[in-house]
Amino acid sequence: MTLARTLASLGVRCMLVERNATTTRHPKMDITNGRSMELFRRLGLADALRAVAVPEANNFDVSWITSLTGRELHRFRYPSVAEKRAEIRARNDGTQPREPAMRVSQVMIEPVLQQAIVGDPRVEARWGVAFEAFTEDEAGVTATLRIGATGETETVRCDYLAGCDGGSSIVREQLGIACEGQAAVTQRYMIHFRSDARELLQAFGVAWHYQTAMGTLIAQDDKDTWTLQTRPPAGVDPAAIDPHPILDAWAGRPFARQILVANPWFTHLLLAERYQEGRVFLAGDAAHQYIPTGGYGMNTGIGDAVDLGWKLAAAVKGYAGQGLLDSYGRERRPVGYRNRLASERHTGVRIAIAELYRNEGDPEALARGIAALGNAENESWGIEFGYRYDGVEGDPVIYTPTTAPGARLPSTFLHDGSALYDRLGPWFTLLRFGDADPSPLIDAAPVPLEIVVVDDASVAPIYESRLVLVRPDTHVAWRGDHCDDGEAVWRNVLG
Ligand SMILES: Cc1cc2nc3c(=O)[nH]c(=O)nc-3n(C[C@H](O)[C@H](O)[C@H](O)COP(=O)(O)OP(=O)(O)OC[C@H]3O[C@@H](n4cnc5c(N)ncnc54)[C@H](O)[C@@H]3O)c2cc1C
Repeated sequence: MTLARTLASLGVRCMLVERNATTTRHPKMDITNGRSMELFRRLGLADALRAVAVPEANNFDVSWITSLTGRELHRFRYPSVAEKRAEIRARNDGTQPREPAMRVSQVMIEPVLQQAIVGDPRVEARWGVAFEAFTEDEAGVTATLRIGATGETETVRCDYLAGCDGGSSIVREQLGIACEGQAAVTQRYMIHFRSDARELLQAFGVAWHYQTAMGTLIAQDDKDTWTLQTRPPAGVDPAAIDPHPILDAWAGRPFARQILVANPWFTHLLLAERYQEGRVFLAGDAAHQYIPTGGYGMNTGIGDAVDLGWKLAAAVKGYAGQGLLDSYGRERRPVGYRNRLASERHTGVRIAIAELYRNEGDPEALARGIAALGNAENESWGIEFGYRYDGVEGDPVIYTPTTAPGARLPSTFLHDGSALYDRLGPWFTLLRFGDADPSPLIDAAPVPLEIVVVDDASVAPIYESRLVLVRPDTHVAWRGDHCDDGEAVWRNVLG
């Protein structure tokens, strides 16, 4: 859906087929990180998404407890969206995102994305239609679809095909692309439920996650919708598990609730060996699958979709060469790999904490141990904002702003109060600081180019050069204090 929106926003028509008749009932992801929110903001979706998310005044705290009827051991405190917005404005040094993160489940986010594309004449969005197979030739791809309601098949001719078809991607399978890494790392059990028993579920006050050695209770709206992610009981056929005693045991006592969905599932640490083959591409879980610690699954997929989207649009519009399309996997696969390692590291911290629970009898010592192990899974700004397409691997925790080509453009507010990010054009943008001459780049531009004159001495040093060329995905394409050969720059930037 994000890829369709990206293509449509750049004026390219596409067809999306989803085999299910509706969006998901499974809550799955619960954190849309600040980077994804920056990208959604550019797609004009930030307000509609915030409207279905946890209220902006609520915190993002992670609370480690003995049980809900026991005590809170340690709380990692994180600001609300409102507090984070104030911090972003106050620390205008390029280290901050344009948008704070957002607490929301996939049950809530998908209908907003669906709504955004269903009404768009450039997207033919079809639910209840399954992709079955494709053939590819020099000029395009022919896809076979099956219409759920009638069982009939249909063929569609397209320029390109993107397999955004999840972990068991048949596009990936038909490309013959294997995944490396580890499948079925651990089995988990998910219980998604509704309950008004806030006196129990929020016994320690509002938090995003309540965690014990037995798993995580996710507050999905700080009101009545919750998800417990735990282990399935040993020795029980997963299909025959009764979720009720698991919930009671986790909470410490019985409480009233209505179970919405409960099922076992497996975590994976997988990365597709290649992200593309000819005119066919993989994005999202079709290309990578992680343990949810850190919340990198969907967020990495949003990055894939935006990278692929503008490149496909540039190819369809005739702005770019094959080299640009070939750069998709070269740019995104290393990010997929880095994020897989990060999700594994964060799980390692959870395992270390679970061991402390087992071995440490003194709650004070346990609390100190948890605090010392930390919560990098929700503090890895280098992973979330510092990924680069130039092969340089920065610190996973600390984000250091830079305009090195390949890096994400740092976000700042200008002295008139406007955000530089909000002044970027839909395609490329050339930022001009001081009296640098932009004309070689303007004269040679084969794509739509927005020129932004940044007349603000306080933020100029953050951008390191007097000319900074920014791509549609807000990564830096090129920078310099002057440009002698605009054509050479564009040839390189557009592959
Ligand atoms: C418990 C849990 C917690 C998570 N928490 C987070 C989090 O906090 N943050 C985060 O970023 N990520 C999180 N994730 C990961 C996130 O849910 C996934 O990474 C994300 O859903 C991937 O999106 P996708 O669109 O690539 O794939 P999917 O969401 O799997 O969507 C693929 C779609 O393709 C459809 N499809 C498949 N085959 C076909 C076909 N042949 N024809 C037509 N349609 C087809 C499917 O029906 C499905 O709707 C979590 C996951 C789990 C399980």
